[in-house]
Amino acid sequence: QTPNEVDVREKPVTTVDGIEIEIAANVGQHAELERAKSQGADGVGLYRTEFLFLNREAAPSEDEQYETYVEALDVFPNGRVVVRTLDIGGDKPVPYLDCPDEKNPFLGERGIRRSLGPDTDLFETQLRALLRAAADGSGQLSIMFPLVATPEELTTALETVSAVADTLEEEGVDYVVPELGVMIETPGAVFTAPELAAQVDFLSIGTNDLTQYIMATARENEHVADLRDPRRPAMLRAIDRTVGAAHKNDAWIGMCGEMAGNPQLTELLVGLGLDELSMSVVTVPDVKAAVQTIDATEAAEHASYALKAVTREQVIKRIQSGNCNQ
Ligand code: PEP
Ligand code: MG
Repeated sequence: QTPNEVDVREKPVTTVDGIEIEIAANVGQHAELERAKSQGADGVGLYRTEFLFLNREAAPSEDEQYETYVEALDVFPNGRVVVRTLDIGGDKPVPYLDCPDEKNPFLGERGIRRSLGPDTDLFETQLRALLRAAADGSGQLSIMFPLVATPEELTTALETVSAVADTLEEEGVDYVVPELGVMIETPGAVFTAPELAAQVDFLSIGTNDLTQYIMATARENEHVADLRDPRRPAMLRAIDRTVGAAHKNDAWIGMCGEMAGNPQLTELLVGLGLDELSMSVVTVPDVKAAVQTIDATEAAEHASYALKAVTREQVIKRIQSGNCNQ
C-alpha cells in the first residue's frame, strides 16, 4: 500500500472542492462487517436483515436480534449503520412465514407491505431490538423501510416506531429512537418523495428495484438486461427528482443500489447531489478513490447536461466526455 491508499481507506473522502461524500457498504452477512471496515467503508448504508431470518425454522428472538445489531454498531464506533427492516417476499421468501403463492411476487406482498400486514408482530419485535440497540451500540444506528409506495405506509411505519418506543418507556427499558429513513425503490415513492422526505431524516434510492419498476424489467432477466440500465434518462430524472425532494425537506439522500458502486458513475451521482453512496464491499476503495478526483461544481454542470439527454447513448457520451457539446 502506498501512503495515499492508506489515506483513502481510513478517512471519509471529499471531492477536490471539499464536499464530503459518505461512502458506505452494503452488508448482507455478519462476516461482511469487518471486511467493509477493512476496505475503508465509513459505515453501512444498507444492512440487509434478511440473513437473520433465512435458513432457520423460526424467527430470531428480540434478544438475538438486539445482540446482532449491537455487534454491527460496535464495528463502526464512529460511523453510521443503516439497518433496513425485514424485506422479504418477492425474491426473498421465508419458509416459516405465511407467504402467499403469488403469480407475480415482485408486484405482490413484499417489503413494508408485509411488515404492515401479516408480519406486524415480527416488525414490532425487530423495532424493539433496534431501538434497544440504538441505545447500547457504539456507532450511530439508522432505520429504513423497504419498498414503500405511498406516504401513508410510511406514516403507519413511523406510528409503529412511536408505539414501540412508548411500550419500551413504560417497561423502563433503555432505548433510543434513531434516525429514520425510507428507501426509494418504487415509482410511487419517487412521485411522492416530497411527502416522504417531510416525514423522515433521509431517503436512500434502491436502484435495483427502482430500475425494475421504472423500466418494467424483471431483476436478473437477461432478455431485458439492455433496458434495465440505470443510465436510462428515465432513471436519471427519477434520481434527480428524489434528490431535489430530499434536500428541499432537509433530509440527506443516499443511494444503495448497484448503481452506487460503479466508479464510472460516481461523478454523475455526485453531480446529481447524492450525499451518500452505499455499495458492495469490493467496490468501496475504487469509489472512494473516484470521489477524490471529482470537482463537485463541475460534476453538477455535467450532470445537468446528462439530465437533458433523451437516449441512453447520449447519457453515456455525456458521462464519459464531461463535454457539454454532444
Ligand atoms: C435495491 O432494490 O436497490 C436494494 C438496494 O435493495 P435489494 O437489492 O436488497 O432489493
Ligand atoms: Mg430492493
